[in-house]
Amino acid sequence: MTFAFTPYALPFVPTVLLMALLAWIASRRERRLARPFMALMAALIAWTACYTLELLSPTLEGKTVWMVAKYLGGGAAPALWFAFSLVVTGNERRLRGWGAAALAALVGVTWLVVFTNPAHHLMWTDVWLVPGDPESHAGHGPFFWVYAASNYLLTTGSALLYVAHYRTRPPLFRAQAALLVLGGFAPLLGRIPEDAFGIDVIPKLDNVIFLLLVSSVLFALAVFRYAALNLVPIAHHLVIRDIGAAVVVLDVQGRVVDLNPYARTLMGSGPRGATGTRPAALLPEWPDLTDEDAAERELLLDRPDGRRWLSLHATPILAPQGGRAGTVAVLFDVTRRKLAELELERSARTDALTGLTNRRHFHELAELAEGRASRSRHSLAVIMIDIDHFKKVNDTHGHGAGDEALRHVARVCSSRVRATDVLARYGGEEFVVLLEGVGESDAALVAEELRAAVERSPVTLEHGPLPLTLSVGVALTDVSSGLDLPGCVTRADRALYASKTAGRNRVTVEHAPTLASI
Ligand code: GH3
Ligand code: MG
Ligand code: MG
Repeated sequence: MTFAFTPYALPFVPTVLLMALLAWIASRRERRLARPFMALMAALIAWTACYTLELLSPTLEGKTVWMVAKYLGGGAAPALWFAFSLVVTGNERRLRGWGAAALAALVGVTWLVVFTNPAHHLMWTDVWLVPGDPESHAGHGPFFWVYAASNYLLTTGSALLYVAHYRTRPPLFRAQAALLVLGGFAPLLGRIPEDAFGIDVIPKLDNVIFLLLVSSVLFALAVFRYAALNLVPIAHHLVIRDIGAAVVVLDVQGRVVDLNPYARTLMGSGPRGATGTRPAALLPEWPDLTDEDAAERELLLDRPDGRRWLSLHATPILAPQGGRAGTVAVLFDVTRRKLAELELERSARTDALTGLTNRRHFHELAELAEGRASRSRHSLAVIMIDIDHFKKVNDTHGHGAGDEALRHVARVCSSRVRATDVLARYGGEEFVVLLEGVGESDAALVAEELRAAVERSPVTLEHGPLPLTLSVGVALTDVSSGLDLPGCVTRADRALYASKTAGRNRVTVEHAPTLASI
């Protein structure tokens, strides 16, 4: 075999080298995309290399050998081109079964027709040289048109796949998808001047090889330069699909772009139902996040089947070229933690034995009541209650009986105060009631009712009923001379002591100090 140098071959040397470089880069990257890309590069390299050797062969025989060999790559390239587009756009499942078989059959038939051409001339009728032209010329047989049509179909098909892929990509992936679209269209657009208008952009040489090179570079850029992005959808797909949290991706306008199965269940939307809508349309509690920087907030979903708390973490997605591309919202169900916290708070406010408000929380509530009273200038009444001879209950019947007596008094008193009144266990066997907006006589009435109710209803102990009595002291804050709730508590205590010394089982009202007596 002889070769003769021709400058026409020169551009194809760097072309082959560049394609080999792209294949090498691919081999060092992610396997899913690298394998089909390397297969495509192998076909294009074989095609280009044989074409170059065809140019370098001076004789018709030599050129014919390389022209036939050229089909090794050229026959497989369109099918691999299409297969690559299926894999890149996430449609590789179509390559299983019939899809792959059809593509393989197309390549097989092309090769068979090419390599047996001398017997039937289906691919080319005859081959001749034109002086001055580096390429050989061939008369097309009928199968050539089948081959050309299938090339166009597969190239167009893959270009359309890239467009469809682009349209479904979230903004972050648009640049990558645009490179694929460009690469997909380059061979088609590049052919238009020659096929439609007969303008040969690079005379005497096969332009398609250069167009395929351009596409290869664009594909490699898209797939391997944005390799991190390519990993993201895969990782997202697994992590985001299975994570026990709702993940919602929003565009700049605050519309749902993507959401995981957990989010779909949470928002009660179908597989596609939520995309394009605003989350608040599905979940009324959803806050407006469009202008928010990273934010964390809590949503309470109060539904007939129960309350749910969600912790929402919103993070802006920043576009590579600057500016905001959207928001990722991750919602965790924190109901269990929240219920535990609420229970903890409740128990910190509650007296364990009686279930009443404890002394500490009584003071918190009293402070709030004091604030309201001073704003609306109403009075507050404090009723202090102490069980008479309680020590004897313990001593005679045991501590358990004493506890039961305390619970009993708590129950009797709770049933006789308004929901807005505060009844608290103030100490061992002492209780306190805070009444808002009542006068002295009404407060005295309430106190008397509590005393009488306990006297009327003995506590039931194991051995039988045990009568209990209360000593009660009442005092009111004086609106005109300033509120002073602690002073009022002290006065109520003093009144209680007065009840004790006066013989127990009674109510004493300590009248508000007049300005004159201070
Ligand atoms: P007085 O009529 O003067 O109030 O006499 P008292 O015996 O009720 O008065 P004192 O304050 O001397 O006794 C209160 C008793 O209450 C003492 C304490 O053992 C008892 N006590 C305090 N807390 C509890 C409790 O949680 N459970 C029980 N069983 N007893 C308690
Ligand atoms: Mg007592
Ligand atoms: Mg006491």
